[in-house]
Amino acid sequence: MFIGHYAPALIAAAHPKAPRLGLLFIAAQLVDIAFFAFVIFGAENMRITPGITAMNAMDLYHMPYTHSLGGGLIFAAALAWAIYYFSRSAAAALIAAGVALSHWFADLLVHAPDLTLLGSPPKLGLGLWNYPLIEMPLELGITGTAFGYYLTRRKAKKGAPSEPVYTLIGVMLALQLYNWLAPQPEKFDLSLPLLALAAFAIFTWLAYRLDRTRSPAN
Ligand SMILES: [Zn+2]
Repeated sequence: MFIGHYAPALIAAAHPKAPRLGLLFIAAQLVDIAFFAFVIFGAENMRITPGITAMNAMDLYHMPYTHSLGGGLIFAAALAWAIYYFSRSAAAALIAAGVALSHWFADLLVHAPDLTLLGSPPKLGLGLWNYPLIEMPLELGITGTAFGYYLTRRKAKKGAPSEPVYTLIGVMLALQLYNWLAPQPEKFDLSLPLLALAAFAIFTWLAYRLDRTRSPAN
């Protein structure tokens, strides 16, 4: 799951008390941002094992903190606390925490068994990355539906350009297709986590830009 993680963020952003879309985009990928940062510093680990799933060669053999359900709860709670601290809005904090926690369940659908409840086996994952004809339409479908929902619930401000809508859709689609269709890396190097973090940053910035052109939900 890559852009599909943003579906819960787009749906949540339609709630009148939700944080802004850019922040929800960070929430949606919070544990992946942490994972790729941890990989750079060696606190969690991955390697490339060609064929580990049909669509994706990432062998995510050690991610006990970011991709356990318990770890996900702690990340979600920390985010909720930070949002509550700055906004004093319990609703905004809870919505963001829900989006952050959704990540683990979306990963559960697609990953090979590499997720845990509390960091040690049993390892969980339903493996839809082995079934591209199911996974690809599913990921595009949930993201497209959520995007449509966001756009209908958060109308464009008067006179606002529609370019940010097309830019975000275009970049999400382009990077997702690249993720699916570009040759899988043969072995792991640091460009992989750095590229992932760059993609998350670009998505977040484009979501922030888009959200500025939309009216508040009501
Ligand atoms: Zn993940």
